[in-house]
Amino acid sequence: MLTTSSRSLPPCAMRPEVYQDEQLLSPPARHESSAEQWRDFQAKRDAAHRRCAGCEVLPECLYQAVVEVDVSGFVACTSERERQRMRRVLGLDGPLRDSAQDAPRSGGPVDHDVVMAARRAHPDDTSRQLAERLGCSLSTIKRHLRRARENTSPVPARPAAPPTIAQVLDVFDELEKIV
Ligand code: SF4
Repeated sequence: MLTTSSRSLPPCAMRPEVYQDEQLLSPPARHESSAEQWRDFQAKRDAAHRRCAGCEVLPECLYQAVVEVDVSGFVACTSERERQRMRRVLGLDGPLRDSAQDAPRSGGPVDHDVVMAARRAHPDDTSRQLAERLGCSLSTIKRHLRRARENTSPVPARPAAPPTIAQVLDVFDELEKIV
């Protein structure tokens, strides 16, 4: 039976291991996965999705993860890639704050050139291994690699007025149509 305090916790706090699974933090590519590996990944993703879908704070959590804080992994029914697609539609291509849990573990912010030099020096490293090498967050590494892929240097300015929760939810509802 749940206690009063445990009932007030969101599902990700009740079952953190579901959300901290390596496959949800760094989703595999479909074409590089066997059928069994892909089924396993989808089952984990679906389990997290069901929990978020029943969460009382889903709208606020989604808004924060899309508009305000760069969070790693599966959050608020979305993967990092899906939130990136949502930001593009919402015109939020500029930098976000790193999440508090995901803040650099040592030193200050990691320079873009430092990340790219490490990528060149260690081409077989996963993003997580690069983050370990540089003592920064996984999301920081991913953001710099994404920026290099999209050749968006310098990072464009963000719109003056942030979107409303309703606008973010509208884009979320259309996510399947956004490529
Ligand atoms: S919607 Fe957000 S707060 Fe709720 S379970 Fe999902 S990740 Fe946690």
